[in-house]
Amino acid sequence: MFYVIMDLEWNNSYNKIKKCFVNEILEIGAVLVDEHLDVIDTYSVIIKSQLIKKLSGRVKNLTHITNEDMRMGISFHRAFAEFEKWIGNRDCIFLSWGNSDIRVLVDNFDMFCGTKKVPFLTQYVDLQKYCQDFIVNVGTQQIGLVNAATEMGIDVSNCNFHRALEDSLLGLRCLKKCYNRDHLHNLAVICDDSFYKKLSFKASYITNINNPKIDKSKMKCDCDICSAPMKRMSDWKCINQSFSAIFLCKNCERLVTFHVKFKEYYDRIDVKTNVTEMKKTQDAENES
Ligand SMILES: [Zn+2]
Repeated sequence: MFYVIMDLEWNNSYNKIKKCFVNEILEIGAVLVDEHLDVIDTYSVIIKSQLIKKLSGRVKNLTHITNEDMRMGISFHRAFAEFEKWIGNRDCIFLSWGNSDIRVLVDNFDMFCGTKKVPFLTQYVDLQKYCQDFIVNVGTQQIGLVNAATEMGIDVSNCNFHRALEDSLLGLRCLKKCYNRDHLHNLAVICDDSFYKKLSFKASYITNINNPKIDKSKMKCDCDICSAPMKRMSDWKCINQSFSAIFLCKNCERLVTFHVKFKEYYDRIDVKTNVTEMKKTQDAENES
């Protein structure tokens, strides 16, 4: 098995035909390594845009790719044909920092080649998720490549960030810090139909209370003071993608607003709840 750590730089611009913003790949950088993480070869190419004549200032600043570089670039088709040739017939696991590069890659193959699948992509690992498990105290917030590298004790002072090849080489240095062959192979996902479905699935909040995917047991509220089950006193309302209702604790004579949000992902639904204090009930006020 071989590993290809790849990084893409892309431009985001408004497309008048599609009537939306599209991401177009401008640069491919990749490093090919064996199972000992010894570098076999690197790949770096700039792609000439088919959609824009000039780069936005933001992309120029971020990537340091110039308009001149881009004009000298090669076509998308040629760049990826050469990339495939570079990989050859090796069995590879592809790695990228976060899956946004892979999403853009899939979108670009769809846009420029009319295929919803990336021909060379057979197995994939999100390197960011892989490394994140090894960094303490980072939580679930997605960590950037440079921050992760710093956290892992890598000296990043001489790196030219946001150039595709440099970023993929930095990704390799991160991988070296926490490499475990079996663990990596276990995490590799096969790029089959469900991989693409999952990748293109847009997570969204459920806002229809009759949606059968809602777990009604999550819509019960226990008092956070006395732990007793509270009684719902109002209908559910859906505001800002969150359901809320007024609940009463008879023991504590308090009213709260209970909020619950259901966010649907491809393979799970995340539930978030919180409680905001209202006021003591009328009786409680009369007593005091
Ligand atoms: Zn209570």
